Amino acid sequence: MRNVTIIGSGCAGNTAAIYTSRASLLPLVIGGHEPGGQLSLTSLVENFPGFPEGIDGPQLVENMKKQAQNFGAEYMSGQVIEADLSQRPFRLNIDGHWEETRTLIIASGASARWLGLPSEHRLIGKGVSSCATCDGFFHRGKRIIVIGGGDSAMEEANFLTRFASEVLLVHRREEFRASKIMLDRAKANPKIKFVLNTVVEEVLGDDAVTGARLKNTATGEVTNVEISGFFLAIGHVPNTTVFKGQLELDQDGYILSKGGARTSVEGVFHAGDVQDRVYRQAITASGAGCMAAIEAERFLENEGH
Ligand code: NAP
Repeated sequence: MRNVTIIGSGCAGNTAAIYTSRASLLPLVIGGHEPGGQLSLTSLVENFPGFPEGIDGPQLVENMKKQAQNFGAEYMSGQVIEADLSQRPFRLNIDGHWEETRTLIIASGASARWLGLPSEHRLIGKGVSSCATCDGFFHRGKRIIVIGGGDSAMEEANFLTRFASEVLLVHRREEFRASKIMLDRAKANPKIKFVLNTVVEEVLGDDAVTGARLKNTATGEVTNVEISGFFLAIGHVPNTTVFKGQLELDQDGYILSKGGARTSVEGVFHAGDVQDRVYRQAITASGAGCMAAIEAERFLENEGH
């Protein structure tokens, strides 16, 4: 029987692990399908306090994990494929193996969103990617596309100019969700060309991406462009499928908060992007992990554990 089980090993999960392990609760951390969370897919993190020169995303989460392990947190790789939160102890099926836990911290984050085109799906890993840091290297000296108009799109487009000869930033409208500083930085980059009011009709290529068919929504004009890489940066969906019907979720699947880190089930707490659709930063996820840990600790104390 575990005191605390944490689902997810990003900033939220790792911070919850640091706090609960330091409180001698010996938490179990289940790595999830994207161990290290979204930071493990990024490059330089410049806005996490305490690192004046910035820090590599994967290094930052690895440091957090080591910090938690130093206090006794146990990490297990795998995914929760089924959960029973109808009674305590809660039961979790991790790739066929069941664990029981007195409290649960859900820090399973949110995953990249795709356009949903069959051609896009067919070419994932063959030039279609949601991770610039992972796959940018393959497009040295080539032209690529980044889809999206938020901070992620600006950040990825900038990062990809390290490799690509040209980055076409394709966005479906003229206004941007991106913050001014990120947008200005992308606009100032001579390797980035903005293609606005434009949607993707098809990703082209048999065994690898060779191009994309784009449609200008203002003029109706359709053009084929030659590219070797097609990068999605159009947001994320929360990883809450296993909790449908067991926890209150909003219409998009984000966990509904019942104040602080509490969910609709007593003893189950949320942390990070699985609930937060507003801030979604490494530092806010870490803060949320801390809150969930403190609430889990107090809950256990009140229950006499
Ligand atoms: P986002 O802000 O939700 O932006 C998603 C973008 O993708 C929007 O421009 C949206 O277009 C577009 N989009 C969504 N679905 C689409 C579809 N089916 N087809 C075409 N375009 C589509 O997501 P994000 O950029 O991933 O950022 C998420 C959060 O993380 C934000 O709060 C952001 O500030 C933060 N973030 C911060 C940093 C940083 O500070 N270093 C870096 C990355 C992310 P519409 O605008 O038309 O809806």
